[in-house]
Amino acid sequence: MNIFVFGIDGASPDLVNRWIGQGHLPNLEKISRSGISGKLKSTFPPLTGPAWSSFQTGVNPGKHGVYNWLDTSSSYEGKVINSNSIRTKTVWSLISTYGGRVGLLSLPVTYPPEKVNGFIVPGFLTPENASQRSHPKDLMRELEDSFPEFDHYVREYMGGSKKEWVGYLKRAAASRGKASRYLVKRHLFSSGSESDNNLFMAHYFATDLVQHFLWDEVTEDWDPRLDVFKQVDEEIGNTMEIAPDNSVFLIVSDHGFGPIDRIFNVNNWLRKEGYLTLEKSAKTLMKQTLSRLGLNQHRLKPLGEKIYPIVKNLGLVSGSIINASSHPALKAFFLSDRDIDWSATAAYSKSDIGHVRLNIAGRESQGELEGADVNRLTGEIKEKLKEVRIADTDQKLAEWVKTKEELYCGPYLKDAPDIMFNSLKQNTLGFGAAMFLSDELFNTPFKPGNHRRNGVLMATGSGVGSGNVNAEIMDIAPTLLNLFSFPIPEQMDGEVIRAISSSEPRYSRPEDFYRSREIREVPEDSRKKLENLGYL
Ligand SMILES: [Zn+2]
Repeated sequence: MNIFVFGIDGASPDLVNRWIGQGHLPNLEKISRSGISGKLKSTFPPLTGPAWSSFQTGVNPGKHGVYNWLDTSSSYEGKVINSNSIRTKTVWSLISTYGGRVGLLSLPVTYPPEKVNGFIVPGFLTPENASQRSHPKDLMRELEDSFPEFDHYVREYMGGSKKEWVGYLKRAAASRGKASRYLVKRHLFSSGSESDNNLFMAHYFATDLVQHFLWDEVTEDWDPRLDVFKQVDEEIGNTMEIAPDNSVFLIVSDHGFGPIDRIFNVNNWLRKEGYLTLEKSAKTLMKQTLSRLGLNQHRLKPLGEKIYPIVKNLGLVSGSIINASSHPALKAFFLSDRDIDWSATAAYSKSDIGHVRLNIAGRESQGELEGADVNRLTGEIKEKLKEVRIADTDQKLAEWVKTKEELYCGPYLKDAPDIMFNSLKQNTLGFGAAMFLSDELFNTPFKPGNHRRNGVLMATGSGVGSGNVNAEIMDIAPTLLNLFSFPIPEQMDGEVIRAISSSEPRYSRPEDFYRSREIREVPEDSRKKLENLGYL
């Protein structure tokens, strides 16, 4: 059995199906027509980090411990996640244990790479100066020698010509396609390393970036999103051509995409409701006054957009314009998490999407809340969030508000955000970045597009059924194991998608399923990547 998985970051069922209907994506069309096609429900929050972590483990975030881009279990500042943050066995290590071969290209949250039977070239959040950039160690150098344009990263939009940036995204997707075919031929099916069970997965990130930055740039003549999707479709088709006859092909995305009309500033709301208190220092009071007078990041953004290209050309700043609006250096001038009086704060929010954390004793470094207070405040904030209306409308902000116990289960539940709410249906991003942005509850967004809960699922090939099939992102890992006839750990939450793998599943109960991994400090440049994307 040979399995090929293509991860298209942020692909939405509605957009992809529309483009298929218009004949723009012939390879995805072939896959969906000959096999199954439907929605793949993501984690909440539908963020690349936790979503691909659930994909790799078959469990909900309460069991793998990744809830966000930042692991805030040891400090308010948090540490950028990496593969060591995933505290559950991955499907890659299980497949390796059972004698299968695994080859991964550019999947997020796979750095540092596990020592699988096969290879891992990690994706997004791999530090540029890392000593172990791939497994085996020399593989990354070999790839760079063969494809000088290959990079762990796909660069975010940094200003300048949008057409040129889209051209770059297409080249980045093409180089991942070429690298895929090289790796499959040379390192998965090469002589001396044959296995009966081989899995190859390639991840395309350009699709996520183009939607974040250029969602609102679609005109009658040009849809930048489609340009990138067409290139990815072509790469998938070309890679499928070199696959052996008895192969199964899966198309998966970690979440969908949609327009964002406004930001709901969670920390401003918590402050207005009295759950979050600012320092009384002269400096913080001054920042507060300036913010009220309009000297805040939000109001200054249009001015910043004019000034930014000039100072960038002068070499005074680097990174994207979004980075400039949330840069740590700006915390000296604008209200940020540095101005929070933690000893007098009961609740706060960190980076998107839609959550509130309580300041709990024993978990947060300056947490004061205990026992009954935690329960009382959880209930109180949950009820208040349900009643929040979008500014100047009587529309409710949140489609739903849930506690962590209602969303997750598992040994790492205590690290989860305590209350979560989904405002994406209202095209609103619940945002709790490090900066306060303004004095308002609602602002216009910095990026025109953001995530939605439903991604795409398609499959075709040996033994795969047909028709419309919906599943959850946690279902992929047990399905891959079942396709190889390997036992599935009972601890996995996902279920085998029987339309993809119809054989009766076998189960096991590995004792080392939950593994404790040290979270090593990652170099600063991973944090910078997230700042460029406006995540922190
Ligand atoms: Zn994503």
